[in-house]
Amino acid sequence: MKPPQFEYQRALTIEDVVAARAANDNTAILAGGQSLLPTLNFRLGSPDRVVDISRITSLNQIDIRDTEIKIGAMVRQRQVELNDEVNQANPVLRETLAHVAHMVIRNRGTVVGSLAHADAAAELPAVLLTLDGRVEVVGLEGTRSIAADDFFRFHLTTAIKPDELITAACFPVLALGTGWAFGEIARRRGDYAVAGVCVLINVDASGVCTSAKLGACGIGSRPTRLVAAEQILMGSRLEEGVINAAGEAAREAVETPDDTQASQAYRQQVLATLVRRNVVRAAERTGASA
Ligand code: FAD
Repeated sequence: MKPPQFEYQRALTIEDVVAARAANDNTAILAGGQSLLPTLNFRLGSPDRVVDISRITSLNQIDIRDTEIKIGAMVRQRQVELNDEVNQANPVLRETLAHVAHMVIRNRGTVVGSLAHADAAAELPAVLLTLDGRVEVVGLEGTRSIAADDFFRFHLTTAIKPDELITAACFPVLALGTGWAFGEIARRRGDYAVAGVCVLINVDASGVCTSAKLGACGIGSRPTRLVAAEQILMGSRLEEGVINAAGEAAREAVETPDDTQASQAYRQQVLATLVRRNVVRAAERTGASA
């Protein structure tokens, strides 16, 4: 199908975008177009105006600071995947991006566009949530920072206001010694996952888990923190029984009912397996035994 008619505007500044959004709340932002254009072609959206932000050069920057990697709104997914400094500061991003769609889509799709689109099955929103990251937005009232947990409201729904745009996504730099892993199960390579799990683990010198962050995509109406599994891991040695218990506890987080991809029971099984598998990999990367 062809998209419905809309006005096209090429923005040259962030102020152009805010003004266009403030003038008409049915104004969409075009970044990489990899989700917006299918949405329009399927007539799932019908904006009056589409504002193209690809020529705003200030949005195409990656800034690595002591504690945070700031990724501008026009930085493509593939740029992040290939960036060795980003990978050194936070290797979860490269491991995750390998699962996002296909390379040709990542060549155009932006990291921020994926967060803004907020598909509950998308990988990057789940990783931002697991890492306790944030987004920076700007609108008529100035700039603000929104924590990932407040940002993702529902499938395809975020906390940004009609006049705002996201200028950057901020992913924390991993502390030295943090174990990490992202893994998913999808029916075909490049498809949205049946479920995906991100794990970050810290252990002390005696192998006791001092910090556990686990998040998942594909199991509910927004990215989900696996709180029950985190609580089981925290304060324990990461032995087989504990890891299995964390996997079992994660099952209850699955809200998605039976759908065309999987039954709820199968999704629970996938989630439990991914939790076990990714906790083991993350623990190995801390140097702890599992
Ligand atoms: P666009 O399509 O340009 O925009 C997406 C939405 O976000 C629009 O509503 C737009 O208005 C809004 N938006 C964009 N930028 C901003 C901003 N700065 N501020 C506010 N709003 C903004 N994704 C996955 O995560 N996993 C997959 O497995 C996957 N598979 C895919 C397979 C196919 C065949 C295709 C076509 C896409 C797939 N995607 C997948 C989606 C892909 O990752 C998109 O690139 C991404 O979701 C959107 O990024 P974009 O830059 O293309 O955004």
